[in-house]
Formats: sequence, C-alpha cells, structure tokens
Amino acid sequence: MTIVIAGASLAGVNAAETLRSEGFTGPIVMIGSEPDLPYERPPLSKGYLLGSDELDSVFVHPAQWYQDQDIELRLSTTVTAIDPAGKTVTVDDGAQIGYSKLLLATGARPRRLDLAGNVFYLRDVRDSQRLKAALQLGAHVAVIGAGWIGLEVAAAARSHGCQVTVIEMDSLPLRKVLGDEVATIYRDLHTSHGVTFHFGRSVAGSGENAITLDDGTIIPAGVIVVGVGIQPNTELASDAGLAVDNGVVVSSSLVTSDPDIFACGDIANWEHPLLGTRIRVEHWENARQSGQLVARSLLGQDVAYDWIPYFYSDQYDAGMEYSGWTGDGYEEVVFRGSAEAREFIAFWLKEGRVVAGMNVNVWDVQDDIRALIAASARGLTVSAADLANPEVALLSLREAGSA
Ligand SMILES: Cc1cc2nc3c(=O)[nH]c(=O)nc-3n(C[C@H](O)[C@H](O)[C@H](O)COP(=O)(O)OP(=O)(O)OC[C@H]3O[C@@H](n4cnc5c(N)ncnc54)[C@H](O)[C@@H]3O)c2cc1C
Repeated sequence: MTIVIAGASLAGVNAAETLRSEGFTGPIVMIGSEPDLPYERPPLSKGYLLGSDELDSVFVHPAQWYQDQDIELRLSTTVTAIDPAGKTVTVDDGAQIGYSKLLLATGARPRRLDLAGNVFYLRDVRDSQRLKAALQLGAHVAVIGAGWIGLEVAAAARSHGCQVTVIEMDSLPLRKVLGDEVATIYRDLHTSHGVTFHFGRSVAGSGENAITLDDGTIIPAGVIVVGVGIQPNTELASDAGLAVDNGVVVSSSLVTSDPDIFACGDIANWEHPLLGTRIRVEHWENARQSGQLVARSLLGQDVAYDWIPYFYSDQYDAGMEYSGWTGDGYEEVVFRGSAEAREFIAFWLKEGRVVAGMNVNVWDVQDDIRALIAASARGLTVSAADLANPEVALLSLREAGSA
C-alpha cells in the first residue's frame, strides 16, 4: 500500500509521522509546492517577523528525520491533477504517481485584493522575509483587515517602530470570532500601543505611498499589508469530482466523497460529532490533531474527529489561548479576573452552557476550559456567578454542574 500526501506542511507531516508511529511500513510520498522543509506558520507573524526567532526554529523536523522515517519528500513539486479511477496523481513535471490511499493537505492561500502600491500578503516564509525587510523604523504601514494575521502584523510593525493604521469594515477587530465584549479589549490593546484604527471603512483605491478609503480619507501607506482571510486550496479536489463546500467535505473520520481519498488541516470541512455541525478550522492545532487522526483513519481504524477547536495568538505582551466554537451564537460573556489588566479568562455562554473559553495572560487553564466545553456539549449547565468567581475551581464546576 502506497500513501500519497498532497501538501507538505503541518497537517501532512503530522499524518506521515503518525502513520509511522502506528506501525505503517509501506511507502509514504509527501509532495509539496514550496521549496522549504515543512514548517510552522505561526512564527511568521510573531517571533520570526519580530526578528527574535531564527528560520531554523520554524521547521517541523530537520531534513534527516524524513530520511530516517523513510518518507519520500518531494519539495518544489505541485500536484496538478488527481485521477480517482486510475488512483494516480499527476505532478507539475508530468510524472504520475500511483496511490492506494491519497491524503489532501493542501491548506489555504490568502484572499487577494486588487490594489496598487507596495502590497504584502502573509502566508509563507518568503512573504514573512519580504515583509520583515519592509518594516523599517518610521515606515507608514496600512494593514487591511483586523483579523488575527492583521493584528499580529500590526503588533510586529509597532515593535519595529512603524506608524501603523488598521482598516476594518466591521466595528471592532475580531468581532465575528470574539464578539463585542472581548473584541473591545483587543481594540484597546492596540490603541494603547499607538495603532490607529478606521472601523466601518473599506479601501477605495491605493497607490505608491497612500491608500484612499471609501469615505475619501487618504492614509499614508508605504507598506500595505492585506489580511482579509484565506481561501482553502480545494481546486484539486473539485476538479477530481470530490464534494467541496467551504473546503473539502469529509466525514467525521476525515474521508472525502471518495473512500480512498482523505483530507485534513485547513481544507477539511468535517462533520463534528460533538458539536453536531460541520466545521472548518484554520488553526495550527487543528492541523496537528487532524493530521494525527487522519493517519489512523487511513489505516482503517474506526476513529471520529471530535477535537474541540483551539487556537492561540501573541500580540505585544498579551498571550492568549481560546477553545470552543460559538458558530451559532452565544448569549453572554462572563469574565474571571481583570479585563482592564488583561489578565483574565472569558467564557462564552449559551443556555447556561460554556461554548467557548479564552485565557489571556493566565496560564495552565486550557485543560479545565476544554473539559468544561466538552461537558457542556453533552448537556452540562453552570452558573455565571461560579464561572466569574476565581475561588471556585473550574474543574469542580464540571462536577457540580447539572449534566
Ligand atoms: C502567518 C501565519 C500565522 C499563523 N498564526 C497562527 C497562530 O498563532 N495560531 C494558530 O492556531 N494558527 C495560526 N496560523 C494558522 C496555521 O498556520 C494553519 O492553520 C496551518 O498552517 C494549516 O496547516 P495545513 O497543513 O492544513 O496547511 P498549510 O500550512 O497551508 O500547508 C499546505 C501546504 O500545501 C501546499 N500545497 C498546496 N497545494 C498544493 C498542491 N497542489 N501540490 C502540492 N502542494 C500543495 C502549500 O504550498 C502548503 O505548503 C497562522 C497562519 C499564518 C499564515
């Protein structure tokens, strides 16, 4: 049995690693478009962009590891087509590679805007290198989009001494993910570090050194960074006739509409057994967890991907972790700790159930938060007063609540 992995990044590597640790000894061929060894992307908008992390630190494994694991790594190679009937993939030099099982881990690319000027996107190592070189002391940086990438770039640009303006169509940064209560804290974090926001605005045009907003405001912008979301790389799957709908549609065991083709990471839109809905997650830990689970599924094990979404972000001196899913809304946010001091846990509640939780500059609480969310998904309800009270241990809430 030969397993071919299209996409040599975090999800693909985790799958390959788990295939070996589960005892699979057959050929594994991992094909990736980029020239670099598989690497972690989070440092590209944090430590690497700030200049505190070296390039070496971003690689998932050194080159020797792939040899030791007998994983054939074909870099600078793009899969151009899948033939599900013949069970082959074609790569850009025309070669065909046969597979018994195929894993799609092709990730995502930034959404692009049609803008003139010195425009940057941030997805790969080269993007980060180019941007780092442009973040010179005093440079006027305009960031379009106040999502995670946009805000992390804003923080890095401020630390390089740039003048930073963020343009966002919504009324607050990260509002769709965090809601008004916590999004306000992120707005204040950035304004206190000297970032200027333009909310409720979009870009009407741009040129060499400035952008023009839809209300006519002109903003100096020698550097324009676009962070308006990503688009999953699903063309291979759709061209092969696989079901695609906001990502590659997979079952809870990450199998596509073809029983010999699987998908994981940023592209997978899976049926979540615990949340009772389809979700697609664009975060680091999902790439790791889904890569590990899909390996077991590829080997025929009866597995279901019920992992609760998790992500993290670092901006200035605010480190955060978040778990949960507020997909169909929430009713209340409860704070434990001090939002003003940016040292707190926030819980998102719906019908007395904890649907998400986030810790900012409070550590070693994620396991408890995740246990609460999992128990809530199974019916546990908790009191807001207990959640807010730091004297009440989170784990005891899981035991005391009404399940
Ligand atoms: C700058 C940045 C910062 C981030 N920070 C965080 C963070 O702080 N916290 C967090 O939780 N998440 C973060 N993320 C998100 C996280 O990095 C992604 O969720 C993760 O990389 C997804 O992994 P993946 O393997 O599914 O896809 P990707 O990392 O996108 O990898 C897919 C790979 O497949 C290759 N490929 C695509 N098509 C083909 C093809 N046809 N043939 C061969 N190869 C192909 C691509 O070139 C790419 O190398 C960040 C992302 C970026 C870009």
